[in-house]
Amino acid sequence: MNRYFDLAYNSFYGYANYLRSEILHPSWHNYFYWLIGLSLLVWILEMAFPWRTDQNPVRRDFWLDLFYMFFNFFIFSLIGFNAISNIGVQAFNDFLGIFGVENIVAIQVGMLPGWMQLLLMFVIADFIQWNIHRLLHHVDWMWEFHKVHHSVEQMGFAAHMRYHFMENIIYKTLQYIPLAMIGFGLQDFFIIHIIAVAIGHLNHANLNLTYGPFRYILNNPIMHLWHHAKYLPEGSKGVNYGLSLSLWDYLFGTAYIPNENANTPLGFEDVEHYPTNFLSQLKAPFLRKKNH
Ligand SMILES: [Zn+2]
Ligand SMILES: [Zn+2]
Repeated sequence: MNRYFDLAYNSFYGYANYLRSEILHPSWHNYFYWLIGLSLLVWILEMAFPWRTDQNPVRRDFWLDLFYMFFNFFIFSLIGFNAISNIGVQAFNDFLGIFGVENIVAIQVGMLPGWMQLLLMFVIADFIQWNIHRLLHHVDWMWEFHKVHHSVEQMGFAAHMRYHFMENIIYKTLQYIPLAMIGFGLQDFFIIHIIAVAIGHLNHANLNLTYGPFRYILNNPIMHLWHHAKYLPEGSKGVNYGLSLSLWDYLFGTAYIPNENANTPLGFEDVEHYPTNFLSQLKAPFLRKKNH
């Protein structure tokens, strides 16, 4: 048990130190400045080429969403997630150790060139996340957490990061085992995270973009606006589940873009009564359970 306690302590201080050095030492390998840089870039694009021309660049809930961005990216990791996930991984490996299993690698791709491993990781992780996103829409208690993201009524790049911290836990937990089964020879997937953040920011941006023929591979602002549409096809719990890639929605028949109306109403039924501040939104999924 002491070992887990030490791990929690070291994770917490390790992450605090990491965050401090990120802020103090700008470099190309630095989440903090990439997140700020990408956010500024997409925001400038929104101002220069707005799709909804009547939308204020400082749109409704802009500051709330910026707060979510820094909370989900940094503060949440600092106050616990990093420690919890390190303990989770250690406990899982200890559990495997009981059966004499040292790792669960089933496929070895470590000998492939680095760029190919990065591409594989990007595509495989995106497919796993597409499945998890579908679950978030279909499993009632998960949907209560995912509703925070869907409470956006006016879309802009920062809406990308409005999500409940439980989504971090759900995604990381469910994707851990399938990804651990693939033996990558790389440790550093930084560039994949940055590309995913860039595509995610663009998906939520007030930009009239589809990337032409690449729309069938890459998710884009028009496709993702329909993911956030308040009114879905009869009986559907969701459409356009793609994160970075739209490919999966086209392959599995969940793509839905009836028109390119920039002013499609967003949210879900009764979104008008959904809490509008950070703390109430964090509490909402838990309170909802008690009421039923
Ligand atoms: Zn969704
Ligand atoms: Zn979204």
